[in-house]
Amino acid sequence: DSFNNMNLKEPLVRGIFAYGFEKPSAIQQRAIKPIIKGRDVIAQAQSGTGKTATFSIAILQQLDLTVRETQVLCLSPTRELAVQIQKVILALGDFMNVQCHACIGGTNLGEDIRKLDYGQHVVSGTPGRVYDMIRRRALRTRSVKMLVLDEADEMLNKGFKEQIYDVYRFLPPSTQVCLISATLPHEILEITSKFMTDPIRILV
Ligand code: AMP
Repeated sequence: DSFNNMNLKEPLVRGIFAYGFEKPSAIQQRAIKPIIKGRDVIAQAQSGTGKTATFSIAILQQLDLTVRETQVLCLSPTRELAVQIQKVILALGDFMNVQCHACIGGTNLGEDIRKLDYGQHVVSGTPGRVYDMIRRRALRTRSVKMLVLDEADEMLNKGFKEQIYDVYRFLPPSTQVCLISATLPHEILEITSKFMTDPIRILV
């Protein structure tokens, strides 16, 4: 399989090759198409499999860049991971004029609010700061179409369960959900059954 026959937008394919990827990894071959089709996806995958690029490519394919409102929200367990996801989205989207903001704790609140106010297609953040920005109405959720929960088991280990549910309650009811987790303990399955509709499960 190749990135060329996945029906991706031309500038996205260009971004993928410019980033240095030649062939989709196993998870990319199996998960990108169903996510783009709008399916809810549970991917049981560790880091190192190419999971970040999987959802980043699917996100970039689905964005309407003419609408500068937050269309995708990615939640991850650490500030570092949230920034890493932002960087991958900006790099793969280098030819697409995409606005992607990292919304993480420990940074200046006013600066966060200003960036969100400017308009961000994608927000990648940690659950606490993202929820804070939603509550302040700095992060508007009416145009959100997709929620990504990366390293979901780690988010629960870090005590983010309540904040994940808090964020979810602000999203439009039909929001597509993609969950990536190395393990699928009971609390993860609880999230998948509450947030997802007829999800596809992919194990890599
Ligand atoms: P991740 O699983 O997201 O932590 O990614 C692990 C590493 O694999 C990162 O350094 C990615 O840049 C790299 N990677 C992801 N997809 C591909 C691909 N299709 N070809 C080559 N390297 C990749």
